[in-house]
Amino acid sequence: MSSARSSNPHRRHFLQVVAGAFTMASLGLPRRGRAADLPHVTESDATAQALGYSSDTRKVPTSKYPKHQPGQQCSKCSLFQGASSDEWGPCAIFPGKSVHASGWCSAFTPKQ
Ligand code: SF4
Repeated sequence: MSSARSSNPHRRHFLQVVAGAFTMASLGLPRRGRAADLPHVTESDATAQALGYSSDTRKVPTSKYPKHQPGQQCSKCSLFQGASSDEWGPCAIFPGKSVHASGWCSAFTPKQ
């Protein structure tokens, strides 16, 4: 005798869809797919200007941002939401946009 749960094809299909969606979310696939389509943050963006964002950390004027250190970049920031291999990725500071992995802003917070 089988249980009603395992023999109900609708429930089984629903569980397969949920499991598939959970697996995709766990792998970050939807997020990466969206990241590729996000507009890039530019230095002229108002928030970028307020935070001294540059898409190239090597161009950050240390005289203006003494906290900036060589080697600090978005891909090493805890607010960067892209994969380590992504050239561009979402950032919690710039919702709906992506920042360059080699960028930097004054909100830089090193990954632990
Ligand atoms: Fe880059 Fe971090 Fe600034 Fe976002 S918060 S722009 S990831 S340095």
